[in-house]
Amino acid sequence: MRIGTGYDCHRFAAGRRLILGGVEVPHSQGLLGHSDADVLSHAIGDALLGAAGLGDLGWHFPDTDPRYREASSIELLRQVARLVRGEGLRVGNVDATVVAERPRLAPHIDAMRSALAVALGVDKGLVSVKATTTEGLGFTGREEGIAAHAVCLLKEVDEH
Ligand code: MG
Repeated sequence: MRIGTGYDCHRFAAGRRLILGGVEVPHSQGLLGHSDADVLSHAIGDALLGAAGLGDLGWHFPDTDPRYREASSIELLRQVARLVRGEGLRVGNVDATVVAERPRLAPHIDAMRSALAVALGVDKGLVSVKATTTEGLGFTGREEGIAAHAVCLLKEVDEH
C-alpha cells in the first residue's frame, strides 16, 4: 500500500466561477488560476501523484502551457487517475478537507464526492470530502482564498 498527500491554495478573484471538486459553487467570486483553479481537485491530484511517485501536477500540467489555460481540473484529475492505473495501482481511498470561510460548502459536498469518484473511476464511498473554516484566522479566514488538503492510499492492483 502507498500513501500520498496533497496541498493547494488559490486566491479569490472577482469575475471568476468557483469550481470545487468539479462542481460549480454559487459565490460572489471565484478562484484565480491558469486552469479553472479547482483547488480541491488539485490537492487530490497531487496526493495521487505523490503516492504513485509520479511527481506533481505542476510537472505534468505546467501553468506555462497554453493547453491548460482554463483547463477543467476534474478532467486533469481523470488523466492523473489514468497515469496511476498505468503504474499498476488503484485508489484505496481519498480523504480531503477544503478550508474556506465562505461560501458554506455543506450543500455541495455530495455532488463533489460524486464528480471526484467518477473522475477517479472509483466508488463514491471511497472518496471523502470535508469542509472547515479557520474561525476567521489567516488568509482563508480573511476570505482571501481557499486551501485544500488531501491524502490518498493506493494499492497494487493484484493486492486484496
Ligand atoms: Mg492549484
